[in-house]
Amino acid sequence: MSRQVSRDTAPEVAVRRLLYAAGLRYRLNVPVPGMRRRTIDIALSGSKIAVFLDGCFWHGCPDHATQPKSNTEWWRAKLDKNMARDRETTEHLQAEGWTVLRFWEHENPQMVAQHVIEARRRTPHAARVSSLCQNRDWRAWPRPHSAAPTSASTWARR
Ligand SMILES: [Zn+2]
Repeated sequence: MSRQVSRDTAPEVAVRRLLYAAGLRYRLNVPVPGMRRRTIDIALSGSKIAVFLDGCFWHGCPDHATQPKSNTEWWRAKLDKNMARDRETTEHLQAEGWTVLRFWEHENPQMVAQHVIEARRRTPHAARVSSLCQNRDWRAWPRPHSAAPTSASTWARR
């Protein structure tokens, strides 16, 4: 496996905290549907958003992927393979209707979280949920029709 890096890297933990604080619920290391042994770092399964926080070295970040001095060719081939795998995973998920968000580990967690939250707001699923919930209050059902509708914006923020 190419994932020698610890999964609980500091940037990933920071991003997770921010998402959680924003009310997003997610699962970690979710298997990619139809692809054995590949996982989504942070998955918002309900809205089919897959977030990847790629380690700079293993995934070939243009700013930080240094060329090891020994076994150069072997390393180059290894990193190329990882990057090809990443592209393949992205394309596969997109074909399955997922929104794929890839970030570098070095990126600011605040910015990363903001992108994810924005994507969550834009997903068709989020829109569908909010329109359903205008007419129904799921927390106390059944309810009389006169019940005040739950505001769409409250739901969209989830
Ligand atoms: Zn980097």
